[in-house]
Amino acid sequence: QTGANDLQTKADRLVQMSICASLARKFPKVTIIGEEELPADEVTEELIEDGHCEEILKKTCPAQYTEIKEEELVIWVDPLDGTKEYTEGLLDHVTVLIGIAYGGKAIAGVINQPYYNYEAGADAVVGRTIWGVLGIGAFGFQLTEAPAGKHIIVTTRSHSSTLVNDCISALNPDTVIRVGGAGNKIIQLIEGKASAYVFASPGCKKWDTCAPEAILHAVGGKITDIHGNSFQYNKEVKHMNSAGVLATLRNYDYYASRIPNNVKQSLVP
Ligand code: AMP
Ligand code: MG
Ligand code: MG
Repeated sequence: QTGANDLQTKADRLVQMSICASLARKFPKVTIIGEEELPADEVTEELIEDGHCEEILKKTCPAQYTEIKEEELVIWVDPLDGTKEYTEGLLDHVTVLIGIAYGGKAIAGVINQPYYNYEAGADAVVGRTIWGVLGIGAFGFQLTEAPAGKHIIVTTRSHSSTLVNDCISALNPDTVIRVGGAGNKIIQLIEGKASAYVFASPGCKKWDTCAPEAILHAVGGKITDIHGNSFQYNKEVKHMNSAGVLATLRNYDYYASRIPNNVKQSLVP
């Protein structure tokens, strides 16, 4: 544990070791940036994953990506998003995020939800993987529109502040859903549970937004900071999304136009 607001569990460390070591072995020239700082120990063989996904390989690679070189890719890894909720037993808030960036843009992403359906009874399949590529689409879930004419805001559960709450109030929400995890909140958008993800605070990092951004953009949504600036994912970029998050599947302009000026002034990109 690194602090009450920034937890790290053994699960975070082991999952990152597994993902980063497996990717590095298969793609040695790729830049991989994970959330956790890990000792440079040798990784035990049982953590190495060397399978591949037939479903993805059946798709045609969009023409604009066929010439990409391995060394031009940056992979952002959040081994466990929603750690605070994980430690409190809210297991379905937890996701594993792997985002792929090229030329500073999020172009592909995986959101694995290891405990999806964990309370759905003995017959239910627990866990699922949502993935998407710009130019191909996103899969592993049912794309659903949020209820028309309602403003359902999804936001942080464990990192609230006066600014976070003032910003939400200014959007005249019909409902506010407070759940953990950036990955989990993007799932709320693409499954029609919420109309906007609003977080007027620093705290969210590039590994929180890269995979969700690629998936949201692949289905026509939009994610930016609270000013409307798009996120950059080149390897030199600072990790913190200092000016918060605003994301929607539809009607982005409605929410963007209602972010109060004092909120914008408080959040420097
Ligand atoms: P949340 O919506 O609170 O679950 O946050 C989404 C992601 O941003 C999670 O990975 C959090 O750990 C991270 N995050 C948001 N706010 C903070 C903060 N104040 N301190 C540390 N991490 C934060
Ligand atoms: Mg996270
Ligand atoms: Mg994490």
